[in-house]
Amino acid sequence: MLLSLTACAEKSASTNLFAMDTYMSLTAYGSNAQTALTDASRRINELERMLSRTVAQSDVSKLNESRRAAVSDETATLLGDALQYAAKTDGAFDVTIAPIVNAWGITSDTPRVPDSDEIAALLTHVGSSHVHLDGNAVTLDEGCAIDLGGIAKGYASDCVASIFADYGITSGCVSLGGNVYVCGNKPDGDKWLVAIQDPQGDDYAAMVALSDAFAVTSGGYQRYFTAEDGTVYQHIIDPKTGYPVQSDLLSVTVIADNGTMADAYSTALYVMGERGAIDFWRANADRFDVVMITTDGRLLYTPNLQDQITEPEGTTYDFQVIDR
Ligand code: ADP
Ligand code: MG
Repeated sequence: MLLSLTACAEKSASTNLFAMDTYMSLTAYGSNAQTALTDASRRINELERMLSRTVAQSDVSKLNESRRAAVSDETATLLGDALQYAAKTDGAFDVTIAPIVNAWGITSDTPRVPDSDEIAALLTHVGSSHVHLDGNAVTLDEGCAIDLGGIAKGYASDCVASIFADYGITSGCVSLGGNVYVCGNKPDGDKWLVAIQDPQGDDYAAMVALSDAFAVTSGGYQRYFTAEDGTVYQHIIDPKTGYPVQSDLLSVTVIADNGTMADAYSTALYVMGERGAIDFWRANADRFDVVMITTDGRLLYTPNLQDQITEPEGTTYDFQVIDR
């Protein structure tokens, strides 16, 4: 009896790792599950060594130190994509924000509040026009630096998806910090239920049923620091002002078939705020869906999600569909 049960149950494997400054968990089903996860973990670590601005000798560190570097094909491609997302979001997502991110040091051990003159001076080094990309050769203008932290985990989730595909994995789920990828359906054939965390509590704010999708959340509620005067500064910067975003949103979840794009857009929509984010979605509604939680207690979602989203019992959020 036991033997036949084991033989019937589909093989599965799970792994946890800490990489890219966050906890990650990966689960895959199928006969290649274990090897797929081993490869995926190795790949994530390799990406961190290549893309992190806090790892010495990464492509990004070399570039930021000497302003001129020959980077890997992969880094060059991702940087090129990042510049395109900057253009598409009118600079709300901008990897040249690095000098400002460094000045605030919000996710570092020594965060501080820079004065307005310092921010104004640093802002002159922000903008895609300061990045010169020519094949693998990248040059930055004086005083400039890049930070792929708003896109690297999303890119890593795309890489995991392609490793799963290479190994013939047809069911799995992956969470790289706030970056979720679900492969196929659950082994029982139902869609995966992806929980959207409640930014104001320990529980979840909504569940979304998804298959073969990326769901990436950005918000100010997890990475922040509290200054001496009690002001809370969260880690996403408005590239137009150089200050941490004072958003009317608590979180933005972008759901799409591309993890890199979902990561860039979740950061960008958080910067844009409710109005800007809705306008941006309307102009790009064929590319992604979105769930937004506002500071005044509404949970907004796009019409495609109507049959996929569920409210937890006793929710305090007012669920509303966004008009097309
Ligand atoms: P998380 O890294 O917590 O998943 P995000 O994907 O939203 O969240 O990325 C935020 C990180 O991206 C910041 O910690 C910072 O390194 C960088 N960043 C901050 N503001 C911006 C911005 N406007 N555009 C691009 N990257 C940003
Ligand atoms: Mg992001």
